[in-house]
Amino acid sequence: MISKTKTCCEFFGDEKRIASPFEKLISLGYYDGTVSGLAQCGGCQRIFHYRLVAWDENQNIRVFSLAQIKVEIFDKVVDLFSRFGQPRWPFWYPVLPAQEAKAISDRIDSLLASGDSPRYVIAAESPEKAILAVRSIQDSARLLHSADFPKPSEWNYWKKYLRL
Ligand SMILES: [Zn+2]
Repeated sequence: MISKTKTCCEFFGDEKRIASPFEKLISLGYYDGTVSGLAQCGGCQRIFHYRLVAWDENQNIRVFSLAQIKVEIFDKVVDLFSRFGQPRWPFWYPVLPAQEAKAISDRIDSLLASGDSPRYVIAAESPEKAILAVRSIQDSARLLHSADFPKPSEWNYWKKYLRL
């Protein structure tokens, strides 16, 4: 059952099948769909930095970690990207001129470096779409993953963790 009421990340517990609370996303990385970025909750306006930690063999179900960051950082990132194009909501994947891409991406990395450790993991095709499962993370060490793209063994771990 998808909840009909307005959702908020505050209602994240250990749940299954909830409507996404995220109304604004900026994708910072893309591989057949978003792999990292910033998401704003439409309920409380909190901002999360999301990162892909696992995906199924077809890359349709993706597991993302969610770490809260300050709203000011989101505003700064919107400002940075707005120099190159109009924001598009709910899903914005800004395209940067090649000669600017490295400098902007370094700037964003430094803005995001101060974020908290991840509080939740969610499974969804993309964070603004229906959320198949959500679970809080007690030990952020479990998020350690070295590769740019997750390995199949990590999918099995998160599939079990989220009871998918
Ligand atoms: Zn919220």
